[in-house]
Amino acid sequence: MQRNSVPPTNRERLLDLLRVSGTSSRIDLVEATGLTAGTISNLVRVLVEEGLVEETGRAASRGGQPRRMLQLRADSRCAVGVHFERGGIELVLTDFTGRTIGASRVDSDQRLAPARQLEAVGTRILAMADACGIAPHRVLGIGLVAEGPLDVPSGTLLANEADARWQGQPIAGLLERQAGFPVRLVPVGTAAALAERVLDGGRRQPFGVIYLASSIAAGVVHEGQVFRGADARPVELGHITVDFNGPPCPCGNRGCLSQYSSGAALAQRAASLPGLAEALAGGAGNPMADVQAIAEQATRGHPQARALWKEAARGLGHAAVSLVNLFGLETVVLAGPALAGAGDLLLAEVRSIVQASSCHRALSPVHVERSRHGPLSAAIGGALQVLCASDGTRTQEPTHRMMERS
Ligand SMILES: [Zn+2]
Repeated sequence: MQRNSVPPTNRERLLDLLRVSGTSSRIDLVEATGLTAGTISNLVRVLVEEGLVEETGRAASRGGQPRRMLQLRADSRCAVGVHFERGGIELVLTDFTGRTIGASRVDSDQRLAPARQLEAVGTRILAMADACGIAPHRVLGIGLVAEGPLDVPSGTLLANEADARWQGQPIAGLLERQAGFPVRLVPVGTAAALAERVLDGGRRQPFGVIYLASSIAAGVVHEGQVFRGADARPVELGHITVDFNGPPCPCGNRGCLSQYSSGAALAQRAASLPGLAEALAGGAGNPMADVQAIAEQATRGHPQARALWKEAARGLGHAAVSLVNLFGLETVVLAGPALAGAGDLLLAEVRSIVQASSCHRALSPVHVERSRHGPLSAAIGGALQVLCASDGTRTQEPTHRMMERS
């Protein structure tokens, strides 16, 4: 179903370069790809004829004729990103450049069986595309982003901490049937890293991304690519041991970072504190609502809330040091919905730990910064996974309910 290990075609590489750079000349593309000027010229001609690429003005040349600049035609194709979070399912629609043009949300309903929940998601995707005036043939597919462990090639959820009924569900195939578009399963950390790679193309590499939501996910971008392990497995930063005497984790390890610093862990700890429990949103099955409430209390100076955040941030800081040391990173980006409330507190603590403790700090300072792409960056990364793996042509025709209706 998915092509995770097949190298990209020249056409895919060219589209990807234009997506990351925004605009490039033919000479820029020759230099970036190592392909001949003739090959680039032919590829560009075909892509312009197909309406996927357009010329946009001229740039000053390093001698000779001004260079004609190229860019993707934003409205030529679209992709959908769907992020399964514990409290709700976030949906985004992006244009061919990866810019968000629509967003929607489906609340998780624990009473619904997985197939029914995916049916609601499929219906909402079609309504979102409809509302944005997007014809089905322009949608290349759906990137379905979920927390692990996942079997990415088969599109199956291997386990689900929050709801055991999802365990073993072939969710990519189920959603494909509901929405009528090809679906690719994408780990959260991979999606979050992809969003930074494409939308912040100028950032120095290698860099790491830590995505904090109900769970903790991470990704690493090196030499223009998001790191993928065997079968497209992500960087499982949430399951590194921070206390080897700690409790067993459902992943099989013990004392994992996720058990201390994830949104779900934070919500669980706050609920057990009499001075804080009453201030929580009481979002059963929605830890992020509680995390927002804890963040609000922390910014108002509530001592228990501040202590909880600081402890979670310490865990993340030391995990970030491990990520920096393992991959030789110069930059760590913090992302995810948990940053919405207490992001400054989190950033300051993680930055101070990383700058004081990473192995090679004497050689160059490690930057710790916040993602510029907001709480939906994982959903956006899901759509980008579809765009980046596409040569702009549909690989399968939509079996479309929108078409059946019209
Ligand atoms: Zn674990």
